[in-house]
Amino acid sequence: MRYLPVFLDLQTGSVVLVGSGELALAKLRVLTAAGARIRWYATSAHDAHGLEPAQLARIDFAKGDPLAADLAGVVAVFCAGAGDVGIAMALRAKSLGLPVNVMDDIAHSTFIFPAIVDRGDVVVAIGTGGTSPVVARRLREKIEAILPARIGELAKFIGRFRKPIHAHIPEASQRRRFWERVIDGPIGTLVLSGHRDDAEAALKAIHDPAAYAGGEGRVAIVGAGPGDPDLLTVKALRALQDADVVYYDELVSPGILDRIRRDATRVPVGRRAGKSGIGQDAINKLLIESAKGGKRVVRLKGGDAFVFGRGGEEVEALREANIAYSIVPGITAALGAGADFEIPLTYRDQARRITFVTAHQADDTGSIDWSTLTDARTTRVVYMGLTSAPSVREGLLAAGRSPETPAGVFARVTRDDARAAVGTLDQLPSLVEQVQGGPAILIIGDVVAHSAAWNRRNVSTFISHLLEAAE
Ligand code: SAH
Repeated sequence: MRYLPVFLDLQTGSVVLVGSGELALAKLRVLTAAGARIRWYATSAHDAHGLEPAQLARIDFAKGDPLAADLAGVVAVFCAGAGDVGIAMALRAKSLGLPVNVMDDIAHSTFIFPAIVDRGDVVVAIGTGGTSPVVARRLREKIEAILPARIGELAKFIGRFRKPIHAHIPEASQRRRFWERVIDGPIGTLVLSGHRDDAEAALKAIHDPAAYAGGEGRVAIVGAGPGDPDLLTVKALRALQDADVVYYDELVSPGILDRIRRDATRVPVGRRAGKSGIGQDAINKLLIESAKGGKRVVRLKGGDAFVFGRGGEEVEALREANIAYSIVPGITAALGAGADFEIPLTYRDQARRITFVTAHQADDTGSIDWSTLTDARTTRVVYMGLTSAPSVREGLLAAGRSPETPAGVFARVTRDDARAAVGTLDQLPSLVEQVQGGPAILIIGDVVAHSAAWNRRNVSTFISHLLEAAE
C-alpha cells in the first residue's frame, strides 16, 4: 500500500480548484456533493453549464492569478484541465504544505483522487496507486452492483442509536455482535427496504440488548490451505472475518493472516520443525477457555485440519468440554502440489491409489511398513518428509520399489516462492537439497512423470545432451 485512503472533511475550510472544461466540471460535481466551499480559478473560461443552483451556490468564481492568491484556510488544492498552470499551482501548494491533486499527474500530486461509490454516509473509495484508473472504475461498477442502495441509510440509522446501545452493552465484542444481529436480521432488512420507522420500532422493542447480542462462544477449526490466500474457501474466509480471536499455526502464510478481521486478536501457537510450540494440551485449553468467555474462536491450520493437523484431538477436547464447534475443510498440501505443478495424483491405469504418510523424524520411518507401499500403481505422498528423505528412499528400495520410479520434492506449494525438484526415487535426498527449505512434501510414483516440472526436466536434459554432443 503506497497511498493511505483517508476521508477528508471538506467543510472545515474551502478548497481551490484550478482548471476548465469537462474535467473541471466533473470535479465541481464531486466537490459540491461533499459539501465543499470551492474557490474556482478557471484557466480558460468559467463555464459551469449543467450545474444546479444548489451547486452553483457553493462556488466562488475567483478572478485573478491562482499562483498569487492567498491560500490561508484552504484545505486542499485540485487541478483539472489546468495544463501548465496546474503544475505551477501544485509546486506552490506543496511548498505551502497543502495537499494537492493534479488530475492524471501523479508526479505533481501529493494525493490521489479515488474512484468513488457514494451512498450517503457510506462511501467506498477505490485506488490503484495511480497505476490504472480503468481497473478502479471496473471495480467501482462491481461494488455499485452489490451494495444495497440504502446502505447509507442503514449506517445513519445505526449511528443514531450507537450511544444509547453503548450504555447498555459496555463490552466491545458483545456490542459488535449486537449490531451484526441488527444488520443481518429483520431490522436491517426493514431499513434497507425503506421502512425506517418500523425498523426503529423494532429496535426500541428490544428490551435487553445484552441478551439480544447473546451468542455463546464457539470454535471453528479452519483449514487455511497450502498458502495461496485465494485458496481459502468462502466458509473459511467468513470465519476469519467473523472471529474474535484466531489461534494459528506457524505454517499459515502471512497472506492468509491478512484476511483475518482487523480487530481480532491473533495468537501464534504453532510448532516449527526444531522448535516446540506451547503443546497440544495448552492449545486445547486456550480454545475452550476463549469459547467459554463468549468469544468466536478460530483455530487456523495449514492445509486441512484433519490431515496431519491434529484437528481430531481438538475436536475431542471441545466435545468433552461441551463447546459448540464447526469444521471447515482446507486444501491439503498434496492437492495444492497437484494443482500447482500439474501432478495428477491418480492416473487411469498407472495410479489407482493414493497414500498420505508422514515421516516426521528419521526414526519414524523405521516404524512405517514400506512393504504395503510398494504397489507400483500407488502414488505416495510423504508429509513432513524433508529430513527423512534418505530413509524414505531406503525403505522403499529395500521393499523392492524400482530406483527409477519418478519422484519429486514440492516445496512451499501455491506460494509465490514455490519450488519443485523432480527425478527418480534413487535421487530423492539430492532433490530435497534443490528446493531449499520447507514446508515440502515428497511425491513418489509414476504420476510425477506427468508433472509440468518433469516435462521441463526432459527438455533441459535434452538440451544439455545436445550441447554435449555439439562439444
Ligand atoms: N494439515 C496440513 C499438513 C500439516 S503437517 C495439510 O493438510 O497440508 C506439515 C507438513 O505439511 C509439512 O511438513 C509439509 O510436508 C506439508 N506442507 C504444508 N504446507 C505445505 C506447502 N505449502 N507446500 C508443501 N508442503 C506443505
